[in-house]
Amino acid sequence: MADAVHDAGRVGESVELVAVGKTFGPESILPALEAGHTVFGENRVQEAMSKWPDLKAQYPDVELHLIGPLQSNKAADAVGLFDVIETVDRPKIARVLAKEMKRQNRKVKLFVQVNTGAEPQKSGILPTDTDQFVELCHNDIGIEIAGLMCIPPLDEEPALHFALLAKLAKRNQIESLSMGMSNDFETAIAFGATHIRVGSAIFGERTEKIA
Ligand SMILES: *Cc1c(COP(=O)(O)O)cnc(C)c1O
Repeated sequence: MADAVHDAGRVGESVELVAVGKTFGPESILPALEAGHTVFGENRVQEAMSKWPDLKAQYPDVELHLIGPLQSNKAADAVGLFDVIETVDRPKIARVLAKEMKRQNRKVKLFVQVNTGAEPQKSGILPTDTDQFVELCHNDIGIEIAGLMCIPPLDEEPALHFALLAKLAKRNQIESLSMGMSNDFETAIAFGATHIRVGSAIFGERTEKIA
């Protein structure tokens, strides 16, 4: 990471490492917490609910990111547990999150997931709908969008997708860019990532195969 930040000429800018602990139990995550790492990601609400309330009680400085799809019926749990939700991807969930944050009197940072490859099986707002969706969130729903997030198609050059996400963010005056995983985080940093989401390069290969 440090080399990539340096090579990109971004010295002095901070890039957050979101350590993705999905499928790994507390015993695998604890060493990272003990070493002082504070930013973590999970992609399933239910799995996160089973391990993070205890870990957060022990390590109150943790900033937990939801990086997987969110169903409306899990929004209350998600708002209660996560500090950043990176996967806002439709008006309905944006409205439910707005309501839940008000009800729980809790402010969660929100990113919009953009389906940069327009893949039918992938969640996210289409690039062509992103400006309008961000405007809807800001002006109509009354939530602030702090970042954009993407997961590029597996079989395409990620740089094209990172460049597109950066362009969309700039155009909408959005500061945070969550892009890049174990295999392509250096490229993401070169294209302006403020958050990279890295799992297997930290915790090892996952035995359970999930999205
Ligand atoms: C699992 C996951 C990651 C981390 O993937 P690695 O290849 O293990 O680094 C990043 N982002 C999302 C959305 C994920 O689900």
